[in-house]
Amino acid sequence: MKETDNVELLKAAVKPLLFWFMDNSRILPWREKPSPYGTWLSEIMLQQTRVEAVIPYYYRFMERFPDIKALAEADEDEVFGLWQGLGYYRRGSLLLQGAKKVVADFGGELPKDYALLLSLPGIGEYTAGAIASIGFGLPYPAVDGNVLRVISRLLGSYENIADEKVKKNIKDLLTVVIPEENPGDFNQSLMELGALICIPNGAPKCKDCPLSHLCRGFCQGIAEELPKKEKKKPRRIEERTVFLLRCGKKVAIRKRSAKGLLANLWEYPNALGKKELAEVETIFSQGQIKNVGDAKHIFTHIEWHMVWYEIILEKEISYEDCLWVPTEELCQYAMASAFKKKLKESSNPRS
Ligand code: SF4
Repeated sequence: MKETDNVELLKAAVKPLLFWFMDNSRILPWREKPSPYGTWLSEIMLQQTRVEAVIPYYYRFMERFPDIKALAEADEDEVFGLWQGLGYYRRGSLLLQGAKKVVADFGGELPKDYALLLSLPGIGEYTAGAIASIGFGLPYPAVDGNVLRVISRLLGSYENIADEKVKKNIKDLLTVVIPEENPGDFNQSLMELGALICIPNGAPKCKDCPLSHLCRGFCQGIAEELPKKEKKKPRRIEERTVFLLRCGKKVAIRKRSAKGLLANLWEYPNALGKKELAEVETIFSQGQIKNVGDAKHIFTHIEWHMVWYEIILEKEISYEDCLWVPTEELCQYAMASAFKKKLKESSNPRS
């Protein structure tokens, strides 16, 4: 199919999409009074997280940090505290770094410039496009997985949407057709159609779609086969041994390093590899040691397969750089979710 045909098809889709969005868009807190900061915050929170789960976090965050200056003055522990339960804490950390840079370089207001937005920590092409279009009304597309799926089906294209060249091609097509007068609504209408009608993992609801008369995927009966995606590489398996050190009503936790996976979050001490009981007994010569079971935690590229040992001590010991914390105060520490399953047990010590 010629590029010009694709442009014509997408141009014809603009008006029906915008009309549909006017009547069908969900009422969401970040849409009530759109602002560059609100768009930034919501888009970061929405990465890897469902809309319904994000809403209460968005309200709490906005109440505590109503603007970028207030956020920039926070420390990471407070941001992590408000982020607890949302997961992927690195997003919160980058948001805070971004806020500090906005205050230092742009006087506390996000720059109305796509390239400068892209220069901020944690802001990639999609988020920069969303802030530029929704927050500032600039004609930049915001291409996420929803948009790639909708466009791929609309164009009836079997090209692999995981391929950077294909993504760029879709972004270029949208740059040509995005309406100057309401680019934010256009981007949101594509995202919303992808979330509500042209859904992933199942049959798209073509009968309810405002674009079915134009859609090649629907007209050719191939919509469900699209989009084409490469199979992901299998995740790397990493085995670990976790030590749940208890003394009276306290447990030992430590802060992870400032770089890498789960940076700056708290964890129970642990070591690489799955250790046998005898080996754990050589590490902790005192205390009653018990294997309390296995657990698995899945990250994007890695799986942790963990074996947990509980070590009950008479006296607090100094182990690596651990901190002894009363179990009822554990909730004040931003604990990596890989360790959360045992967090509840730790709050109800037997001794
Ligand atoms: Fe998606 Fe169906 Fe609409 Fe085409 S007609 S865009 S496949 S929901």
